[in-house]
Amino acid sequence: MKSILIFGFYLIFGFWQLSKLQAQSFLPDNQIKTVVIDAGHGGRDPGAVGKKSYEKTINLKIALQLGRLIKKNYPKIKVIYTRQTDKFVGLWRRTYIAQKYKADLFISIHTNAARNRYAYGTETFVFGKRGTSSEVIRRENRRLSKEQKKDDFIQTSENQLLSLNFAHSIEKEFIKQKRHSRGVKRGGLYVLRLARMPAVLIEVGFISNHYEEKYMRNQAGQTLIAQAIFRGFKAYKKQTESTGYRIQLAVLSKKNMLLKTGKKAIQNLQIQKLGKVYKHFAIGYKTKSAAQKALVYFRKNGFPDAFLVFGR
Ligand SMILES: [Zn+2]
Repeated sequence: MKSILIFGFYLIFGFWQLSKLQAQSFLPDNQIKTVVIDAGHGGRDPGAVGKKSYEKTINLKIALQLGRLIKKNYPKIKVIYTRQTDKFVGLWRRTYIAQKYKADLFISIHTNAARNRYAYGTETFVFGKRGTSSEVIRRENRRLSKEQKKDDFIQTSENQLLSLNFAHSIEKEFIKQKRHSRGVKRGGLYVLRLARMPAVLIEVGFISNHYEEKYMRNQAGQTLIAQAIFRGFKAYKKQTESTGYRIQLAVLSKKNMLLKTGKKAIQNLQIQKLGKVYKHFAIGYKTKSAAQKALVYFRKNGFPDAFLVFGR
């Protein structure tokens, strides 16, 4: 009997630990501490080819400039590159680097191409199952490793939403520079699907278009592009960091304004009606670490199933 009890304890404790891990591991951190900048292609993979340049070269120049801008303006943010030279890096490795450094944001920089040489403009991709099955997806997914094909991870919905916000703030900046924005698009891009953090893939212009190739080969053009992405980053950072966390405590059949933890009434209580039930939240946590600390307290004091939610 005793051994069954002990076994039961470990079983329950184990599940509790597991659910705790699941609730927290992929929840975005609203404080941006580490950014991974990914210059598409490289080495033996030139990417799209223009009349006078390769995609890989343009991507790298813009990526390095963007990194410098972030470092200069936010010295505390760690900037990690997937490549800093003209070398081949597999798609799998790129997502692995972002995961290894626990990046809070993944920015992939690419150059577009189309058979129609008049096609021009910028577009920013986020991961989405249903989406444009365009030339872009086919081209950017071409270099897949075996590991990549096996990995069935799908970016969490919270991170998909944040990616969408980030993508919109980037395209907004291109518009301010009088570039032609083709908009924000969703697609099954592998580097984005496997991202454990918000992630975007920016197509900064068409190498197949004479004028845009010239613009992107030119240092002034590259600087303007890096600046647009940086300003988009800045806006996204501000918005995300002002979004806090809340803790879902309980789902009850009745409103309980006097919900208690231990003997104390919960001060910052929020109640939301969902169908026939009422969700009870503790709100107002500005950082993930503050929310996690409170979560541990609530779980020990009457709410063992409490979990963190991103957003107010
Ligand atoms: Zn590309």
